[in-house]
Amino acid sequence: MKNSQPVALITGSTSGIGAAIARRLSREGYAIVLHSRSSTEAGQALAAELGMAAYVQADLAQDADRVRLIREAVALWGRLDVLVNNAGISRVIPHADLAAATPEVWHELNEINVVAPFRLVAEAESALREAAARGRPGCVVNISSHAGVRPKGASIPYAASKAALNHVTRLLALSLAPEIRVNAIAPGLVDTPLTAAWTDAQQLWRERAPMRRAAKPDDIAQLVAMLVASDYLTGEILLSDGGLNLT
Ligand code: NAD
Repeated sequence: MKNSQPVALITGSTSGIGAAIARRLSREGYAIVLHSRSSTEAGQALAAELGMAAYVQADLAQDADRVRLIREAVALWGRLDVLVNNAGISRVIPHADLAAATPEVWHELNEINVVAPFRLVAEAESALREAAARGRPGCVVNISSHAGVRPKGASIPYAASKAALNHVTRLLALSLAPEIRVNAIAPGLVDTPLTAAWTDAQQLWRERAPMRRAAKPDDIAQLVAMLVASDYLTGEILLSDGGLNLT
């Protein structure tokens, strides 16, 4: 099927931040490719709600699935203009408990939070370059974390994986310009099902963050829309923690 609308693929978009990004870019006029590892029903229901949208299942731990996801996403409407690498995993481990941060934890977080986003960009590169030929640079937005900027976060392997994603963002911005822009958003605490039980962090943001609250998924989706709207910004890591880093 051919389509004159721009197309955005958002990974991990059946819940939390990813679903908010999908809704927002749909309102901005994008055809949407939704994705998750396993929640097929939720993906199909959201696709039906959004209209010009489709759902593709893929396990981003598997390289064959990464390749298939991009191939199917591009085949849906014959183009890909925006890739939002939102899917990610976290493991909560006290930083002083070094033994608990096993090689398996390091490997798993690195595969999903670093290798998968890089491989998706590599597989989508030619489609994103074609966006530039149509008049606007292709656009990649990586969802990182404030834990990748400051020595904080759910665990050392998680924070290190997000720091690596930030560096990959800058390296790819340099390598792929001017046809493809690459930026990252580094959220602090965001109210999602993932963080519903993180009461200490919620209290910290209420009491110490200058904005006096955690972010809502829509706050992050708005920043994605800002980055997507630009034709110039590249290589930026947008820290969005309500100002907590200033305290
Ligand atoms: P979430 O658990 O609701 O969403 C994560 C998504 O990633 C899910 O859709 C899941 O299907 C997908 N995913 C995980 N492993 C996968 C795999 N192997 N294959 C395919 N998909 C997989 O969490 P969220 O809070 O919405 O997080 C979204 C992103 O934001 C993540 O990258 C996370 O690290 C980042 N982030 C979240 C917060 C927060 O406070 N919630 C803060 C900073 C950064």
